[in-house]
Amino acid sequence: MRFASLTQLSPEAACNRLVTVDTERKLKLVEWLALIALIDERRDYRAAGYSSMSAFCMGRLHLTLDRSLRLIQVARVARRYPMAFEFLADGRLGLTTLSELAPALRVGNASELLEAAAHKTKEGIRRLLVDRAWAACGVVAAPSSLEARSEEPVAEHSEGREGSLSDLIAPASPDTSSAGYAPAHTGMTRRGRITPSAGGEYDVRLSITEDERAVLRRAEDLLGHAVPSGDLAEIYARAMKAYVAQLEKERFGAKRSASVATAVTKSRTPTREMRGFVEDRDGGQCTFIGPDGHRCEETRGLECDHIVPWCKGGPTTPSNLRLLCPVHNQFEAERELGKEYMQGRRESAERERALDPQATKAAHADEQRPEAGAVATGERHDDVCDALRALGYNETQAQRGARESKPGASLEDDVKAALAVLSRKCRHRGELMAKRKE
Ligand SMILES: [Zn+2]
Repeated sequence: MRFASLTQLSPEAACNRLVTVDTERKLKLVEWLALIALIDERRDYRAAGYSSMSAFCMGRLHLTLDRSLRLIQVARVARRYPMAFEFLADGRLGLTTLSELAPALRVGNASELLEAAAHKTKEGIRRLLVDRAWAACGVVAAPSSLEARSEEPVAEHSEGREGSLSDLIAPASPDTSSAGYAPAHTGMTRRGRITPSAGGEYDVRLSITEDERAVLRRAEDLLGHAVPSGDLAEIYARAMKAYVAQLEKERFGAKRSASVATAVTKSRTPTREMRGFVEDRDGGQCTFIGPDGHRCEETRGLECDHIVPWCKGGPTTPSNLRLLCPVHNQFEAERELGKEYMQGRRESAERERALDPQATKAAHADEQRPEAGAVATGERHDDVCDALRALGYNETQAQRGARESKPGASLEDDVKAALAVLSRKCRHRGELMAKRKE
């Protein structure tokens, strides 16, 4: 389409053409949102190498974080209340106005509220919500926050960064704060903000308590000779360097021996040293790579994953370990072990937690301790699982029982140990259920 060819249109034809193009644009918008809702719901972004829908929108669609979050919010609302798509298609609502309305929509009011909001401006919708006393529910206080998410049935795919409400609200749009609403960080657990500034530097803005101020003053005093100017940026940089070094030491051990690259541990959990080696080798970033070569950029909450799964006999060695973010760890586990199996494991863990949070906590701590969950080999693990399944235990129970295997023990002893634990758990659960009934 050339601009010059449009200039040939008569005034009437130009107006008609604009209306046609606008109708097409709205239909395209609906398709665009429906695709966002679909990819978000099925978590298709994982296979493409992204840890969240917002990361995908930023990486592949080149949208800003704020716009991505708004779009995802609107897409989720439209998925939940499909009639919203009709309002978008015929222009009764736009992206901005639907986003404004989104936090107030509920199953019982969606249809009526959408009708009432039709053709209204952003301000008009705010007025509508205030008049209807939505303000009392705190909805208008933060119109662009994604508070409605907590009510949406999407919790299962809100892992990683996207799942953190503070992360969602932190990059609030400028118009939210300038419109005189409550500060975007209301209710955030995270304080402070980092924004890029001129010269490739960053502005760090923090509010600190009286006690924290006293600690900072103490640092200024102790650094009196090294940083006589009391330059806060330099003190901050020195403090962070020292703190990161301390955290790394705590997490990965003081120093790494040359043999760590070829080390083997009989436990499922890698040693601190091994984990440090993998962390260094993988550059502290999720190693999942999508089909187009995009490597997941997640650097938080990384987990050491067995490339050949532990339950399939994969050893705990640096060459069989890789860093994965929680989203891709789960994605790979589903690919390797099946979605149903993973779902079953999650459900049984949830049931256990609901029945007895304390016992589950203790069992989990056991799992983390290298020697407690140690199995001699993957083969033995499978043998114990087979034996337990033959005795009528389900897959989850078999896996749990097989964790009791001890290096060097006979198969019979391992099965006995598993049976002892499983029957104890069953008794314990029975007692709890009986107590609940009383
Ligand atoms: Zn990842």
